[in-house]
Amino acid sequence: MLKIGLTGGIGSGKTAASEHFAHLGAEVIDTDLLSRELVEPGQPALAEIAAAFGRQMVNDDGRLERARLRALVFGDPLARQRLEAILHPRIRAAMLARADRSTAPYVVFVIPLLFETGQQSLVDRVLLIDVPESLQRARVAARDGIDDAQTERILQAQTDRATRLRGADDVICNDGSLAQLRAAVEKLHQKYTHQVRN
Ligand code: ATP
Repeated sequence: MLKIGLTGGIGSGKTAASEHFAHLGAEVIDTDLLSRELVEPGQPALAEIAAAFGRQMVNDDGRLERARLRALVFGDPLARQRLEAILHPRIRAAMLARADRSTAPYVVFVIPLLFETGQQSLVDRVLLIDVPESLQRARVAARDGIDDAQTERILQAQTDRATRLRGADDVICNDGSLAQLRAAVEKLHQKYTHQVRN
């Protein structure tokens, strides 16, 4: 099964592109969704988080105190590493298990932090949704209504555009219309489907 890792910065168009891949028949697996499922009440990862960081990370309903955990690992690299050691192996296992069950011609893993977390080795090809930073800022501002300073902080925390471009096997430049984005996705769909058949 051909595995594509779809990535890109905030607001680059990952969701828009992956929705179209799904529409065309690809198996699309969103790693953000998977990681949320892994910490639902009663899941072993949640118990491990409570054991590692304290009972106060789980509220009375048995749900993860997301904001509290985020605050704890923010700026604490060791705590972050510990959290990643709990979550990452499980996310990987869940991704691969879901891909194995699929009958689609290829699978698209949506991995926003693919470069930051070094997950290139999990996939056969990296597909970057690339967008000029000015457009990225404008689209994020329009979608989320957040201010420039906040967008700037997020952009600064993410891998820079040049590094992403160097690490990508395929690139869709999403600087045109949504129809153009869909056309670019269709072209790659042909390519990925073709690779599987040969
Ligand atoms: P995030 O990393 O924040 O989850 P994302 O990479 O999934 O973002 P999208 O949500 O797909 O990005 O796109 C960001 C915003 O830009 C959305 O409001 C989307 O509708 C819009 N958008 C994406 N591509 C285009 C395009 N080609 N033309 C116009 N608007 C677009």
